[in-house]
Amino acid sequence: MANIIDGKKISQEIKDELKAEVASLAEQGKKCALAVIQVGNDPASSVYVGNKKKACAYIGIQSVSYELPEETSEEELLDLIERLNQDAKVHGILCQLPLPKHIDEDRVIQAISPKKDVDGFHPQNVGALVIGQPGFVSCTPAGIIQLLKRNKIAIAGKHCVVIGRSNIVGKPMALLMLRENATVTVCHSRTQNLKEICREADILIVAIGKPRYIGADYVKEGAVVIDVGIHRNESNKLCGDVAYDEVEPKASYITPVPGGVGPMTIAMLMHNCVEAMKRES
Ligand code: NAP
Repeated sequence: MANIIDGKKISQEIKDELKAEVASLAEQGKKCALAVIQVGNDPASSVYVGNKKKACAYIGIQSVSYELPEETSEEELLDLIERLNQDAKVHGILCQLPLPKHIDEDRVIQAISPKKDVDGFHPQNVGALVIGQPGFVSCTPAGIIQLLKRNKIAIAGKHCVVIGRSNIVGKPMALLMLRENATVTVCHSRTQNLKEICREADILIVAIGKPRYIGADYVKEGAVVIDVGIHRNESNKLCGDVAYDEVEPKASYITPVPGGVGPMTIAMLMHNCVEAMKRES
């Protein structure tokens, strides 16, 4: 039976550590603020934005909301971002994705000052990660590193297989595991012999975006399995990219869905906000 990696508990630990840090910074007169921009009212985005604001309130970070109508033009959004870039009281800028189709997401990501890019999506921060320099790291992969470390799971020298090469999960995940001295293999939709490669993994990180795709036959006995996927099944229950019931008996450690990787993303976003303020002050 696998040890269950409790993302809810670890994310709470991180939020409590940040809350204490923010309180002590406030005593020195330093206040942290995050600008949260949402364009349109996509219901899923509203839930994510709401959860981010709740986490800010818990930790003591001021969140400043910008709820813009769906028809906001790209120029209007870029103008707002530029004003926030210049505003010394704002330490982090978060623009909830996806944006309406008429807005170029890449332009928006690149408009946010790298110093306030708490999502870690700006090319300058991505480049810093590649060459091992300080910068902001994408929150979901950064959260996975915390899950591994806080469970005292050895990474150095282990073979880590990452399935998925998206800019927000797969690629930064692979780079972070490399930085932690794992031997890393990245798989994607054109990978041949996926099952065989996965069976060689000591640490298998699955960010494939397909419900219950990874069954027990993809997993080596005793492997650590991290499931990034989030889906709703036919009965409206949450499930991941991994067939949890099949894989759990074979794994040494596994993340459940929900309650594994999911809660870590917001915790690491809060971490990045506090970091942004500390770097600026
Ligand atoms: P994505 O952009 O759709 O990327 C999926 C990746 O999986 C792509 O690189 C794709 O390869 C690869 N892939 C697809 N089918 C495959 C197959 N049959 N065999 C091998 N590789 C395959 O997704 P994402 O944004 O990285 O997210 C992945 C999952 O994580 C989704 O379920 C998403 O909802 C979830 N997610 C969760 C969190 C969280 O906070 N827990 C955060 C972000 C994402 P190609 O590049 O060749 O197309």
